[in-house]
Amino acid sequence: MVDSILEGVLAQFHNAADEINLDAKYRDYLTTWKTIFQTHFPVEMDDGSVRMFEGARIIHNSALGPTKGGIRYSASLTLDDVKALSMLMTWKCAVVNLPFGGAKGGVIVDPTALSMRELQNLTRRFTSELEPIIGPDKDIPAPDMGTNAQTMAWMMDTYSMSHGYTIPAVVTGKPVAIGGSEGRLEATGRGVLYVLEAQLAAQGGVRGKTVSVQGFGNVGSVAARVIHEAGGVITHLSDRFIALHNPQGIDVTAAYAYAGNGTHTLREWHEQNPGSTEEIAPDEVLTAEVDVLVPAAVESVLTKDNAPNVRAKLIVEAANGPTTAEADAILNERGIPIIPDILANAGGVTVSYFEWVQARQYLHWTEAQVNEELKRIMSVAFQAVAARAANNGKPVPQRQAANWIGIERVVAAIDLRGFYP
Ligand code: NAD
Repeated sequence: MVDSILEGVLAQFHNAADEINLDAKYRDYLTTWKTIFQTHFPVEMDDGSVRMFEGARIIHNSALGPTKGGIRYSASLTLDDVKALSMLMTWKCAVVNLPFGGAKGGVIVDPTALSMRELQNLTRRFTSELEPIIGPDKDIPAPDMGTNAQTMAWMMDTYSMSHGYTIPAVVTGKPVAIGGSEGRLEATGRGVLYVLEAQLAAQGGVRGKTVSVQGFGNVGSVAARVIHEAGGVITHLSDRFIALHNPQGIDVTAAYAYAGNGTHTLREWHEQNPGSTEEIAPDEVLTAEVDVLVPAAVESVLTKDNAPNVRAKLIVEAANGPTTAEADAILNERGIPIIPDILANAGGVTVSYFEWVQARQYLHWTEAQVNEELKRIMSVAFQAVAARAANNGKPVPQRQAANWIGIERVVAAIDLRGFYP
């Protein structure tokens, strides 16, 4: 059974590699992780007790440049998840043509169960543990699930303190006041809108299309908001606490203003605004009859069990790995197109790249500059994937095409660099 995200990501890789007749030497290289760093470390809690935590940073491949990838805080994080996500980062950076390799990291912790002080202690100690791995020319973390701009501020400060001067380029996704980029917070959700607009260009664009969004965190809340602002009708919306429905369209502007920054949940918003939405079963968000489904929460939510019931006409993978390999096969068979994660959510790493460039040049771009350049890069990547998916009259899923492009670009870099020594 192929169900874990790692098995799924590896299955996708081998499937793509078979089709392009990838030489065995690259296949072994690309299915082996460059660095797997694991650490156990103590954190003093508010009550004076000391708890041990487990964290990891995994570098998949650095052929294209310094490595890039988020830091995830999650109670259910596994080493296999981090491996899979680091491999996805390699292909993602290559698909949007960034000079970065792929990495990922995280700590096994439920961040909502810790106080701010405990979270800061944990983040600072974990950053110290990562000292041999990370660096502005080596490996550059960013936020992911359970972490945010504040986490990156603590990481940047801890790394800078140990070097004796401020090194803003060691992480991205920082607050704007200390070297973060305009538009970074919104970049992944905005990138989702740009690929969606490109995909629907021949069908009148996003305006008037019904959309179901799962997840109301950094990615889901912004994706829902910008799709709503572009004229899309968000009929279904959920977070981990509640799923909501309004056939006329949910007032996402209001939901975002109340719950978009993570201080409130969608359930609280629903309770504050009785009658504006009805509560539905969580899985209905995935099986709703809509034009577009945007899974923007966690991995492996589209499975062999619910894929036969999906009624969306298009899926845009804002989350990483939301579709298991079995579900992918079912959805392909059913002819439901999927804009794959390594293209659809690449807006985040793209603006992280802009932030890194700005930090290295001590420059500050305007939000308009950031969004314009983001749109350009996402559009170029989308067109490249769409053209490749056409496959000379024998169309293949966009996921296959995106994987081909990602793998080929990394292999080209390996070839040019050669095998050391
Ligand atoms: P987040 O922690 O900010 O938000 C996650 C959201 O999902 C929350 O609203 C949570 O309540 C909801 N959620 C969790 N389980 C759920 C469930 N079973 N059903 C419905 N909702 C559920 O995380 P994020 O940064 O928004 O990341 C979401 C996804 O996007 C992840 O897969 C992440 O790897 C991916 N991603 C994030 C970025 C980024 O820039 N943050 C970039 C690329 C990809």
